[in-house]
Amino acid sequence: MRAVLHYADKQTALYMNTPTTHLKTSPCPCGSAKPYENCCGRYLDHGESAVTAEQLMRSRYTAYTLKREDYLLATWHPDTRPATLELTGQPAQQWLGLTVKRHEQTASDQAIVEFVARYKINGRAHRLHEISRFVRKDGQWLYVDGDILRE
Ligand SMILES: [Zn+2]
Repeated sequence: MRAVLHYADKQTALYMNTPTTHLKTSPCPCGSAKPYENCCGRYLDHGESAVTAEQLMRSRYTAYTLKREDYLLATWHPDTRPATLELTGQPAQQWLGLTVKRHEQTASDQAIVEFVARYKINGRAHRLHEISRFVRKDGQWLYVDGDILRE
């Protein structure tokens, strides 16, 4: 998923930047219903590699909610990776939830994931519906690019 250049209110941004000591045992932001620590935290904080493109996609969504630019860039294919993401721009978007609609491995090292991510900017709700492309390089799934579906 690309950085979405819209913005939420300042209070939300401050909340999102608060150190999240409770995060480990909280439900993972990706919506899996598992604790963060047993879900995307394995990839974001413990250096594990996602086994499927869907796991990587979920962990990248979680990284957006936590403003983990380091992780987002590290899991982006070098051919399409931007130099920087402006995740700390004020005000930032508030992520509300993720629904993965489809995960299809189209070749041994290629996959697509279709998802809807919901977010708010200045109190207004938006939906990002995207089909993302992933490739596996040296055993590591990487985000390549995506098509945004207009609804
Ligand atoms: Zn997760």
